[in-house]
Amino acid sequence: MPDRERLVVVGNGMAGMACVEQILKYDAPFDITVFGDETHTNYNRVMLSSVLAGEKAPDDIVINSPEWYRRHGITLHVGVRIVSVDPHTKHVIGDDGAVTPYDKLLLATGSSPWMPPIDGLTRDGVFVFRTLDDTRELIRRSGPETRAIVIGGGLLGLEAARGLQVQGCQVSVVHLMSTLMERQLDPDGGYYLVGKMEELGVNVLLGRTTVAILGNGHVEAVALSDGTCLDADLVVVAAGIRPNIDLAIQAGVICNRGIVVNDFMETSHPDVFAVGECVEHRGVCYGLVAPLYEQGKVLAATMSGHRGPTYQGTIQAAKLKIMGVDVFSAGDWSEQNAEPVRFEDRALGVYKKVTVRDGKLAGVILVGDTSDSHRYMEWLRTGADLATQRRHLLFPPPSADVGLDVAEMSDTATVCGCVGVTKGQIIEAIHQCGVNTMSLLKETTRASTGCGSCTSLCQGLLRAVAPDFEDEQKRVICGCVPFAEDRLREILRSERLKSVQDVLEIYGNGVGCEVCKPALSYMLDMLWCGDHDEDRSARFINDRVHANIQKDGTFSVIPRIRGGVTSAAELRRIADVADKYQVPMVKITGSQRIDLLGIRKADLPAVWADLGMPSGQAYTKGVRMVKTCVGTEFCRFGTQDSTAAGIELERRFEQLFTPHKVKMATVGCPRNCAEATVKDIGLIGVEGGWQVVVGGAAGKSVRKADLLTTVETTEQALEASELFFQYYREHANYLERTYDFVERFGIEKIRKETVYAPESARAGLLDRLQKSKSRARDAWLEGRTPRHPTQFTVIQPLEETSERAVRLQADEAVAVRRDAHGGAT
Ligand SMILES: Cc1cc2nc3c(=O)[nH]c(=O)nc-3n(C[C@H](O)[C@H](O)[C@H](O)COP(=O)(O)OP(=O)(O)OC[C@H]3O[C@@H](n4cnc5c(N)ncnc54)[C@H](O)[C@@H]3O)c2cc1C
Ligand code: SF4
Repeated sequence: MPDRERLVVVGNGMAGMACVEQILKYDAPFDITVFGDETHTNYNRVMLSSVLAGEKAPDDIVINSPEWYRRHGITLHVGVRIVSVDPHTKHVIGDDGAVTPYDKLLLATGSSPWMPPIDGLTRDGVFVFRTLDDTRELIRRSGPETRAIVIGGGLLGLEAARGLQVQGCQVSVVHLMSTLMERQLDPDGGYYLVGKMEELGVNVLLGRTTVAILGNGHVEAVALSDGTCLDADLVVVAAGIRPNIDLAIQAGVICNRGIVVNDFMETSHPDVFAVGECVEHRGVCYGLVAPLYEQGKVLAATMSGHRGPTYQGTIQAAKLKIMGVDVFSAGDWSEQNAEPVRFEDRALGVYKKVTVRDGKLAGVILVGDTSDSHRYMEWLRTGADLATQRRHLLFPPPSADVGLDVAEMSDTATVCGCVGVTKGQIIEAIHQCGVNTMSLLKETTRASTGCGSCTSLCQGLLRAVAPDFEDEQKRVICGCVPFAEDRLREILRSERLKSVQDVLEIYGNGVGCEVCKPALSYMLDMLWCGDHDEDRSARFINDRVHANIQKDGTFSVIPRIRGGVTSAAELRRIADVADKYQVPMVKITGSQRIDLLGIRKADLPAVWADLGMPSGQAYTKGVRMVKTCVGTEFCRFGTQDSTAAGIELERRFEQLFTPHKVKMATVGCPRNCAEATVKDIGLIGVEGGWQVVVGGAAGKSVRKADLLTTVETTEQALEASELFFQYYREHANYLERTYDFVERFGIEKIRKETVYAPESARAGLLDRLQKSKSRARDAWLEGRTPRHPTQFTVIQPLEETSERAVRLQADEAVAVRRDAHGGAT
């Protein structure tokens, strides 16, 4: 036997590579070669739904980069399909003709979508939803005019429907059964989903079979068993999956529905192994990731000469978010020989059902509120006797200790089902690697990087175990007012406080500082829609003099040029001002604006008066600008009038304060000449409509914006932007940019509470924005008359002695340090 054995892995998917990662941990003497027929490196298939919904880019879901394979000495062949196996000569043959010998063969071939017997499946426009290529093609074909039919109302079908709807399609789901997701939910649970989907504009047709896909080459309609015919441009077939077992059969391995494996994850052949969706263990083929990770760990031990751990099967559990609704289903929730216990609140959209058999939990369904899912998983896993828990079957006992629930979990309990991270592993990361934030936890363990449904549980663990846990969600501004920002907002609202000084005196140290005062000032402005006691001294120096202080103590003045469109008259006035005040530098900024640099503080009011233009707010935490491309006006590629849309967007938001600066852009087509995908808010013109994207960045951080929604008209795009803008103003922490905010809240939640929120909630956001806007004033118009005698005088440090002057001077020094950055435009 050679020192090193040749291990050939067929399938570069989640299960295969998770198993290889475990094999590497054993330092087993294998020369590993991996074949994958997809043209990409290993990626998180679970997140394809997020890619379709525009929440993630393909690059965001890569699990192992090509560099990872190189680092571990693994030979990777992407885009090569293994077409045959010879178990006697022990080699595999690829569709490129290459013959590769092996000593051990690992089949991780996953599943393929099952295609039901429907006429017309080969027509152009019929898709499945399984790979990154499928997803890319679906995105390419989607748009506001597209009529999409999803065949299948199971998990995948609903995920596809959600993504297509976000892409702007008019979506119908056709399902054979009388309820949705019947494998995970009982009819009552399914009812909640139907309601939610219809509320979001998805047409749900239950109890119907698709008999044919009609059209002349291309999909034009779908014919149903009841005689209905639905117009269609796109069809997604999501009718189930079938394990890929052809190679195993060739290799002479025993197969049923899947490749049969024992508890050590061995097949009937000593040198052929299998893992993932392609296997059948104790009669069960799994279709979710958590079991595959468990299988991979056991198989790695077996293959690496540490045969011992066994795979006992996995309790079937799914925790998902379907169209914004949290859903959890686990165990056997059928009522056969079991006692059902239910709770239902249709107004809240919450449904809970547990089934108890022989005094133990048999199964559970949660819709609308899944926060308690881990408690049920523990009961299922340990077979706990529920005699003493009868009063708390549906609701946990009230507990003041937020860490109690997680404390009750065993160390082996899985916290992150997608990546397969246990409580014990998280605790180890906290103790051994000093993990004390969610970001660090994600980086170190990968927990919560899958579907994200375990985030609150991870936070609970961090809170309970990490001595210096830093809750990024509950940030306290500073020690002067010791409350988390969301709590502080509640206090200001309920106590109807309207001045910074009152807040500091009642809830703080009575004095405040340069950190908390601007934050409080912003909160009051936002909460009372501008109807508060504005205290200019609570703002940064830049806000007090409405210009951006530079490192030499002079100021930069940037007038508002909406959408980057100016006129000869404005340009003449700018030139005259530059001459009159001997402006040392006139500069075109990266945001299509004109910057007059080096203006003396004392000249500011006169400069504004001579310019006769509104302030560009380049100095404040507020709305900066909307960069535009020429769009349909002049560009031959333009599909939308991006210039007019940009000017209108700027007009609606200018003069408003925000938690941090807000930069926007509008482009006439996806060529994206004004870089809308890396702005806080971007409008991208597409055929027949607009995509509204949010949370982008291209500064110190670089982030591609998430798709908020796709709409047909410019007015709808502007309204979607307004909803997001006001929601951000109301919920973000002070100094939190949209890109951090969108990551922290999650685009799904933001969508649910803005563009897909109930009518009354949307109207509330728009109304509050309108009120703020009606009270907003152009800072330069107001600033031309100084509020106090020293506002625009130059302070001479050695001669000035008053306490106020010294304070102003200190503020200016801080402002110079903080704000003397060239990219403030
Ligand atoms: C859109 C979508 C959403 C999902 N959402 C969830 C979810 O929320 N939660 C959850 O738990 N699970 C979810 N799943 C299921 C989960 O992704 C799968 O269970 C998991 O990816 C299966 O892993 P696998 O490695 O066994 O198979 P795969 O990931 O399919 O990997 C198998 C790989 O092998 C390749 N292959 C097959 N045959 C050959 C051959 N002969 N030669 C070369 N290569 C070959 C395939 O092309 C594929 O790349 C989702 C799946 C999809 C498609
Ligand atoms: S983004 Fe499109 S429409 Fe706008 S200028 Fe570029 S190519 Fe033309």
